[in-house]
Amino acid sequence: MNDQAAGAALGSLAGLVVAVDGPAAAGKGTLARRLAAALGLPYLDTGLLYRATGRRVLDAGADPRDPVAAEAAARGLTPGDLARQDLRGPAADAAASAVAAIPAVRAALLDWQRDFGRRHGAVLDGRDIGTVVFPEAPVKLFVTAGDEERARRRWLELQARGVAAAPEQVLAELRARDAQDAGRSAAPMKPAADAALLDTTALDAEAAFQAAWAILRAKLPGRLG
Ligand code: C5P
Repeated sequence: MNDQAAGAALGSLAGLVVAVDGPAAAGKGTLARRLAAALGLPYLDTGLLYRATGRRVLDAGADPRDPVAAEAAARGLTPGDLARQDLRGPAADAAASAVAAIPAVRAALLDWQRDFGRRHGAVLDGRDIGTVVFPEAPVKLFVTAGDEERARRRWLELQARGVAAAPEQVLAELRARDAQDAGRSAAPMKPAADAALLDTTALDAEAAFQAAWAILRAKLPGRLG
């Protein structure tokens, strides 16, 4: 089904929350954005909140592992911070993952995410959407792909942005970030018990969308036309 046909077939999905979690570069952002368009729901990339927080800490000349500086940065976030052009790349990735391990930062960002999702429903992507932010979401996807395929995708993204990077360095940084995200004690990255696993290693964006749509149809009988 294409997105227009999907959208046209929908009944009222107002208030629906779809959680899309998974490790870096598994394809969850592309997928979540497309699901949101097909469902007629707002989309939130929750990683941006952690990225913007990490960037503010770096701008202040502080250490992203410093809980006081990081909490202040999270509490002071503005919409403009989320629109910055420097939220991607190795330094921003590492700073985001460091601030994301601090419980006070996560607490500062939680209500904002919940309010966003509760207003009209939403598709949210992140690491803890199905486990912590919206544990009651009726649809949860955990999107994965093999490490080397994810590193290849991230390297291609960097190339496209004109950022030179050694492929083995990209793989090492991605593994280190996943280990930190999965190993922290505050809201670690993990699939919710009721999440559907979607491995995109061998899938392009279209095939991943079709596979996710089939999961949604099964989880929401009669609601997607
Ligand atoms: O998804 P993205 O790669 O942009 O996320 C950047 C970082 O933000 C992740 O490595 C993770 O540490 C953190 N994050 C998180 N919880 C979320 C979303 C992102 O801890 N819901």
